[in-house]
Amino acid sequence: MSEVPGGAGGRRRKHDAAPRPKDPYQTLRITRNLMAAGTSLLVVTILCIYRNEGFIAATPFAVAVTLIATLVVVFFVAFRTGLNTRFADPSLTMAQIASAVAVLAFVNFNLLGSRGAFLLVYIMAMLFAVFRLTTRQLLKIVLPVIGAHAIFYLSDAEHLRAIPAPMKVVEWAVLTIVLLWFARLGGYITEMRRKLRTLTTRDELTSAFNRRHLDDSLEREKARADRHGGALCMALMDLDWFKRVNDSYGHLAGDEVLKGFAAIVQDQIRASDLFGRFGGEEFMLILPHTSLVDVGPLMERIRSETGTHRWRVGRGDLVVTVSIGIDEYRRGEDTAALLRRADAALYRAKANGRDQVVFGVSGG
Ligand code: GH3
Ligand code: MG
Ligand code: MG
Repeated sequence: MSEVPGGAGGRRRKHDAAPRPKDPYQTLRITRNLMAAGTSLLVVTILCIYRNEGFIAATPFAVAVTLIATLVVVFFVAFRTGLNTRFADPSLTMAQIASAVAVLAFVNFNLLGSRGAFLLVYIMAMLFAVFRLTTRQLLKIVLPVIGAHAIFYLSDAEHLRAIPAPMKVVEWAVLTIVLLWFARLGGYITEMRRKLRTLTTRDELTSAFNRRHLDDSLEREKARADRHGGALCMALMDLDWFKRVNDSYGHLAGDEVLKGFAAIVQDQIRASDLFGRFGGEEFMLILPHTSLVDVGPLMERIRSETGTHRWRVGRGDLVVTVSIGIDEYRRGEDTAALLRRADAALYRAKANGRDQVVFGVSGG
């Protein structure tokens, strides 16, 4: 039944022994995690200086260093084991910043004398959030800090009593202004970054993902499937006789059909599915957590919705059909192998007369 080179025999390859995460996003997260660990080390160094000068008592110093070490280990383990990918935000940004800031607030409360320079460390921790969190999320971090400092300064704690009231007020006011400004500007940078990412990941004509993002997504989903053993399907879709559409109705009409087709597919798929333009009039659909036995109805809906749609073009209605080849990922293989099988299935759909869905060799 297999007609693809390296088909069923490709299951037991060297990858099976130890699937290496090739997910580029996870690599980035691990790098950022190491940067955060390095920053923690700097904070411990600063704490040692404070301790050496007697600006912090032995007990809070020990507690703070222990807390920092614990957080470093917890997040390191989370990123190294891939546990982080189970969370809605796999970067764990909120959790990391919030816990770091909580420890810093603890230190700030326990400093003897003025908080002064140590307040800068808040900014150090929050710089990790500036590209990732919205103003609203940043406020959720910043407002508790502002509140905590208000409580410190109003409290009757012995070691704070010596600080003159005006100094407390000024320190608190400056902290408040700087942190609020940070939340606003940070949110603005996050928003700019989001817009930029849209520009670099989307196809201009159809607003579906572009080729580069599809390639990245496929690698990422492959890595995830390798780690968690979940199913993964990929479909290639090619509009039939599309050259004729262009030749008969013009390129602008062709462009409208491409946009309309993308909209039809977007309408049918789930938020977790990844759909994009692979090139020309070819599209790719990546279906995470989906096995081949489950995709039939969806593929059929996409095929029939496309074939029954009437595109209004100058001289009347236009009908366009689509051919689809789909196959399932086999744990440990290269994404190129999956692509070859989906492409082979698409080729068969074309050869069998177009306007049909053909399942790859994995389907049996
Ligand atoms: P088949 O059923 O075998 O797929 O036939 P086809 O005519 O669709 O095949 P082919 O791949 O030879 O032609 C694809 C055509 O798609 C050629 C090109 O003019 C057209 N095309 C590619 N990109 C665009 C685009 O961005 N806009 C328009 N309007 N046409 C495009
Ligand atoms: Mg084509
Ligand atoms: Mg075509």
